[in-house]
Order: sequence, then C-alpha cells, then structure tokens
Amino acid sequence: MNILVINCGSSSLKYQVINSDTEQCIAKGLCERIGIDGSQITYAPAGGEKEVTVTPMPDHTEAIRLVLEALTNEKTGVVKSLDEIGAVGHRVVHGGEKFASSTLITDEVMAAIEECNDLAPLHNPANIIGINACKALMPGTPMVAVFDTAFHQTMPEEAYMYGLPYEYYKKYKIRRYGFHGTSHSYVSKRAAEVLGKKYEDLKIIVCHLGNGASISAVKNGKCVDTSMGLTPLEGLIMGTRSGDIDPAIMEFIAHKENKSIDDIMTILNKKSGVLGLSDNLSSDFRDLEQGHNNGDVNATRTLKTYCYRVAKYIGSYVAAMNGVDVICFTAGVGENASLVRRMVCEYLGYLGVTIDAEANGRRGEDIAISTPDSKTTVMVIPTNEELAIARETVRLV
Ligand code: AMP
Repeated sequence: MNILVINCGSSSLKYQVINSDTEQCIAKGLCERIGIDGSQITYAPAGGEKEVTVTPMPDHTEAIRLVLEALTNEKTGVVKSLDEIGAVGHRVVHGGEKFASSTLITDEVMAAIEECNDLAPLHNPANIIGINACKALMPGTPMVAVFDTAFHQTMPEEAYMYGLPYEYYKKYKIRRYGFHGTSHSYVSKRAAEVLGKKYEDLKIIVCHLGNGASISAVKNGKCVDTSMGLTPLEGLIMGTRSGDIDPAIMEFIAHKENKSIDDIMTILNKKSGVLGLSDNLSSDFRDLEQGHNNGDVNATRTLKTYCYRVAKYIGSYVAAMNGVDVICFTAGVGENASLVRRMVCEYLGYLGVTIDAEANGRRGEDIAISTPDSKTTVMVIPTNEELAIARETVRLV
C-alpha cells in the first residue's frame, strides 16, 4: 500500500509517499510560503528529477491539490490515480493527555485535537488545516494522526509534573508533554533491533539533536522522561531556542530592555540557542564546527556549552533509569556532527564509554560508534519520522 505522509506547518507542508511493502519513499517534496506571495512546490520522485514550481497557493487545500496533481501527473507522477494511495498519515504536534498513541481520524478525534490547540497554538491549528484539506480532496481515504507527544505519555507523574501550583495542572493541564516522540520511539526501537537485543530489556537514552533538540530516557520499551516540556522550548540548547533558563531571566530582560512577554518569547524561541550564544555567528553546526576549527571563540564557547548541557541531561537520565545500556545520537546534528558526539562522550568516562574514532567519522548508517569493549554502547541511528508515521498508519488501517 502507498501511504501519503503529511507534515503541515502554518505556511509550509512537507510530504512523502512511502510504499509500505518495500518501506521505500517513492516521492517527496515540500510546499513553501503557503498563503504568502512567491509560494512554490518542490516535487522529487525517487530516481527522477527534482522539480520546483513557483505557483500561487492561497491556502493549504490548494497546496495539497498541487501535491496530489504532482503525484498523479501523467509524465512524472508516481501513481496513476489517487486510488493507489491507500491512506494518509498526518503528523500532529500536540495530543495532550488525550492521545497516548496514534489514532484513526474521526470527527470525535478532530474535536479532541482541536481541544489541544491551546497547548500548541503555533502548530496544532496548522495540522488540523492540513487534515481538513486532505479530507476535502480525498474523501473516503482513511487518515491517521500520529502525535509528537504520544510516545512520552508513559512518563510517571514525578517526571511530568512541574513545581507549580497544582491548580494549573487541574485547570489547564500544565505539565511536561515532550515532543519528537515519533523520532525517539523509532530510534530507540531501531537501536535494539540493530543490536539484536529485546527492546523491553534495555535502558536507552536518545539524543535527538536537530534544529530543535530533545533527549529522552526509554526504559524497558517505555519513555520515562524527556527534556522538552509543555512546549518545545524547554531542555537542551537548540538552534535558536534557549532550552532551560532561570525563569526570572524573562522578567529581568523585560525590565532592562522594556520588552513585552511576546517580545521575550520571540527572543527565547528565535534569537537564543546556539545562534544567540554564538553572538549571532550561526544556528547551523556546520558553521560552528568550522568556526571552532578556525579558532573562533564564539563558536568554541557555543559548542562547549551545548555539549555540556547534553552530557548533563544524559547524566540525569542515567539516574532516572538507574543505569543505561545504549546512548543514541540522531537528527541533523546528532547524525552529522562527529565533533559534537565526541565532545559529549568525553563527559561519559564514568559510564565506561570509549569511542571508535573511525566509526564516529562515518555517516548515514545505523552504527555503533563505541568500541566493542565500551561498557555503554553509543550509536548513531539516522531518524526516519516519515517511515515511522507510515508504519503507524498501516497498523491502524
Ligand atoms: P534537523 O532539524 O534534524 O533537520 O537538523 C538540522 C541541523 O542539523 C542544521 O541546522 C545543522 O545545524 C545540522 N547539520 C546538518 N548537516 C550537518 C553536517 N553535515 N554537519 C554538522 N551539522 C549538520
């Protein structure tokens, strides 16, 4: 069966078609600047030429119509008709406490997703628009929602509660939810598979280090803690997000710089992280690595602070699980930045970690980068959220 996987943002939409029998992606692409001047669609059939078409996309329905048109195009399409798409899997950012697993989309499910809008006002409404647009153009095709938060719903209360007045949990469900759940689930399972061990027997720490970054503790196949919180702002230092800070800093900056709460949130989400810490050198680790190698102190400070935070979280999750068997690196930085992996692992001597420099230099493989005699296994597992969404979709239809 062919599964269309949709990841819909407020002005962009990423898509992939995955054949569930071969688990290969047969086409993928991206719609950008939806509802803004200069919108364009990128379409890349597997093994074919990538096409970029600039065309008006006033809304998400038009964007999805163009995607379906590209997929069924007589010359360059990958399917003859929409009948060859068996189901659609939608990435949905926030499932609140309502969704501990993926679900087939019904009217009740749509209403429940809408109830989570408050918790992710930038993301969930866009996800809902994407689902509605697909429903309008593909009536009768089953659709599945796969939530970023679902995998973390197994966290115990002590891991998800904040030290805030309990009434805010009761009234507004303010608690830790965690994100990137599809990736943490996929990578931890894949690590067990690659090692030939039972998932349920392992204590795994997954470091999903991308532009957004989070880390999770997976004990005996269940997530027991994760670094992102009510929103994706908490935890590690990220591309442009601050991660953990003293909350009183917000008031301090607001007073000193005469800023509103909205201004402060923009600073914490868009101008902080490695971009801000490097004094605006870059949010991209390729630039930071290059800067560090050329003796740029901004780059070196940023890399050291970033890696220290990752190592500190690993330590806290070793405590949470009373040990660790496998540490996995994934996502853009985790999969590619060998320097970051090396610098993080330098903190892990107490876990008996030793790294094989040659393996750490490789790319694009599921691979152990620790030496065979390392007491804890360290791996790189390229994440594949689209495949994980396609698998969930097949399971439910
Ligand atoms: P993601 O959000 O998972 O797509 O990760 C994107 C980030 O990965 C980029 O912003 C870069 O910081 C990082 N990245 C991508 N490729 C490389 C590379 N070859 N070396 C170091 N960092 C990389």
